[in-house]
Amino acid sequence: MTVKTISSRKASQGLQWLELSQSALAQNVKTLSSLASGKQFAACVKANAYGHGLPELVTMLSKIKQVELLTVHSLAEAETVRSGGWTREIILLGPIDLAEAEACVQLDLQPTIVTKEALTAIGRVATKREQTVRTHLKLETGTNRQGLTEEELPAITKLYRKYPILKGPYGLSTHFANIEDTTEHEYAQGQLKEFRRLVSLIKAEGFKPKVRHTACSAALILFDKTHFELVRPGISVYGHWPSKETYLSYRLGGGKNDIFRPVLSWRTRITQIKSLAPDSFVGYGCSYRTTTKSKLAILPVGYYDGYSRGLSNQAYVLIKGQRAPVRGRVCMNLMMVDVTHIEGVKLGEPVTLIGSDGPESVRAEQLALWNGTIAYEILARLSPNIPRLIIS
Ligand SMILES: *Cc1c(COP(=O)(O)O)cnc(C)c1O
Repeated sequence: MTVKTISSRKASQGLQWLELSQSALAQNVKTLSSLASGKQFAACVKANAYGHGLPELVTMLSKIKQVELLTVHSLAEAETVRSGGWTREIILLGPIDLAEAEACVQLDLQPTIVTKEALTAIGRVATKREQTVRTHLKLETGTNRQGLTEEELPAITKLYRKYPILKGPYGLSTHFANIEDTTEHEYAQGQLKEFRRLVSLIKAEGFKPKVRHTACSAALILFDKTHFELVRPGISVYGHWPSKETYLSYRLGGGKNDIFRPVLSWRTRITQIKSLAPDSFVGYGCSYRTTTKSKLAILPVGYYDGYSRGLSNQAYVLIKGQRAPVRGRVCMNLMMVDVTHIEGVKLGEPVTLIGSDGPESVRAEQLALWNGTIAYEILARLSPNIPRLIIS
């Protein structure tokens, strides 16, 4: 996979592309590392780097020296990261296929251990290769997803004794269930307390884990106590707030506005313009009908690309710095917008689906609101097929 870097937005970019801003990325990392100063910084690049494009983000993050680690979900992602030239650390957050243990060790990954079967598989490979593997135990503190419970810990500690090459767990982690969806943080505080208790149980067994980590973006931004030795933010690295509640909690605590800049803009071009008489229907299901003589622009983007069908008759795009409302249903590969009120619109005119144009901007958070979801999903669903351009 080749990664394209350009210095200006004027280059010919086809009918649809994502622009990725290196300076926005650098600013977000700087902001986050100053909120968690002195801590190891692990940027999360799962889900194709939150839809931004994994090879591109590996190139971009490689240029930022504060980013000591990347976290990924799967072995396949880790392979892409290594083949993109990343030589720093990688934590695998997701489960491993037991047959993948060897590949995991070969790529020098740090697996998250959530079963004794996985630890056995890693222990065997490490012993055979005489290679220490840094393993991270994920502890159950109330999310009830991946964590190991207190009852499961004795079997785990026994396995660490059986495979001394591992030198015990290198990292201990947990994940919060209810930190971004609320401005009330008692549940997260309870999880933190439970994490500390489980950590001390493991230490009492004679193990000396080097890093403890619990902080996703919301935890990093709101609570110093969650930082421990390492933080592992995702969405905020890309310049987005985890939620409105996180933003409100941060501002109520005296935090400043505008500390993040979105890294990604999504643009396309008008491929057709047509005039419609009053009372004309637009698109599948005749869900929109014009009330006046109208001018419609056809865009070569649809739900296949990640522009959700739920945005039909809901969202607007930006053309010449003005809003152009989506008319009718978003199709698989096409959509229609109203440009009646915009002067001088031509074929090939650039269109902003996410990002800024003049005084206007459309944020992923706004599309999420219109679509009844969260910015995470809007971003993660951007098709990997859209060309990505790094703006240096
Ligand atoms: C995705 C993920 C993160 C990052 O979460 P953000 O809310 O995007 O910062 C951190 N830790 C784990 C375990 C994750 O799965």
